[in-house]
Amino acid sequence: MKLLHALNLTALTAALLLPSAASAAAEPGYEPLRSGLETLGAKLDWDDEDRTVVFKLKNGISGIVTIGEKEYRLAGKKGELDGEVRLVNESTQVPAALWKLITEENGKYQNDPKAPKFFEVQAAVETEAVANGEDAADDPAIWVDGADPSKSKLIATNKAGGVLVYDLEGKQLQSYPTGKMNNIDLRYDFPLGGSKVDIAAATNRTTNTIDVWSVSGETGELKDILAEPIASKMSEVYGFSLYHSLRSGKFYALVLGKKGEFEQYELADNGSGKVTGKLVREFQLETQSEGLAADDEYGTMYIAEEDTGIWKYSAEPDGGLKPLAQVDIADGRRLQDDVEGLTLYYGADGQGYLLASSQGSNSYAVYKREGANEYVSNFTIEDGPAVDGTSETDGIDVIGFGLGAKYQQGIFVSQDDANLENGEKINQNFKIVPWEAIAKGLNTPAASAQVDPRKLVKRGE
Ligand code: CA
Ligand code: CA
Ligand code: CA
Ligand code: CA
Ligand code: CA
Ligand code: CA
Repeated sequence: MKLLHALNLTALTAALLLPSAASAAAEPGYEPLRSGLETLGAKLDWDDEDRTVVFKLKNGISGIVTIGEKEYRLAGKKGELDGEVRLVNESTQVPAALWKLITEENGKYQNDPKAPKFFEVQAAVETEAVANGEDAADDPAIWVDGADPSKSKLIATNKAGGVLVYDLEGKQLQSYPTGKMNNIDLRYDFPLGGSKVDIAAATNRTTNTIDVWSVSGETGELKDILAEPIASKMSEVYGFSLYHSLRSGKFYALVLGKKGEFEQYELADNGSGKVTGKLVREFQLETQSEGLAADDEYGTMYIAEEDTGIWKYSAEPDGGLKPLAQVDIADGRRLQDDVEGLTLYYGADGQGYLLASSQGSNSYAVYKREGANEYVSNFTIEDGPAVDGTSETDGIDVIGFGLGAKYQQGIFVSQDDANLENGEKINQNFKIVPWEAIAKGLNTPAASAQVDPRKLVKRGE
């Protein structure tokens, strides 16, 4: 389903495109949608191509209906009506039962003390654009240089072509045409051939495999370290995270498929200094899910079901097949579908944040990392003097560790759907925001700013 993000309509397009005629009498059992929504003060948009009406109520809850269909979405949930949504004399009419549900949703969260909050930041740097047009840049991962953090690197995917390595100024250092690489992640100190190496791994949609490399920090060079390909059982590999269990010391590849499949592979040295992957857990989500992030300290993982919301699971292979909790629902307020990239900000003493790309609202939702993942705020990355803002973000990554003078509290990295250069749209890229700017918006105490990703501590149960 195509969601429109420009919900602010000009009167002109409304008059031209939106099925209107408030005067048209509703059919028996039906209510006119547009005039009703206008009375509620909702914003709405008509997509001529898809014949859909997308609306956002004043409390932020969103919905979508399609002419000729019984299926609708409201407040992050799919439903089915007895009758089809109709177009009568240019007026969109919905079954009265749906109109009742809309007015019920509209009545929620009046004077809500926990209403979503939004703040704005700007990016300091952007990477060079990827080599392919259309929707190509996808998911970044931050590799921290332990010896000289200012020389840290970004390792990112181009889902039309491979893996790219950038420096912190956004300059491309390496390009590996390894296939349609979707999501990527990395971990430190993987035991291999008697020593410890930093590894990066990614889902490869060309070969339907999980690819694993060692990372040479100085040059950003990646080396294939697999004994044999790790071939997935699912129809199309998609979302990805690594997980280093501080409970067992073991490393895992966590994989999501385009049809909601989940697979967990234990990664280990085969005895000859090469990596093998062994399937140790699998389960099924209801719908397409991509965003995935594992919390090594708490032994948990978060999954973004794109149209639904965020789930929290155990990350351990014996952690069960059902979620521990639902963190949030994509009802349009804090999260608007698709829910995409997820990442974890490790703060001191087990505190920190879970961040999620709310693609439909061009923003990022922030939750507490610990406990019940209480909602904190949303933020947007707006146009700045040097770098354009972000929209419809796929992958994100964050690090709460100083990366030199420019990024003393770390960075947040975000894919951008529409990369502008002198007002013209060029190929996509990744934006770097100094964490300081986000910390300010979140009122994060400065003391919680530094956690070395190589020195994580087991916490919780
Ligand atoms: Ca995209
Ligand atoms: Ca997606
Ligand atoms: Ca979707
Ligand atoms: Ca942009
Ligand atoms: Ca993606
Ligand atoms: Ca730009």
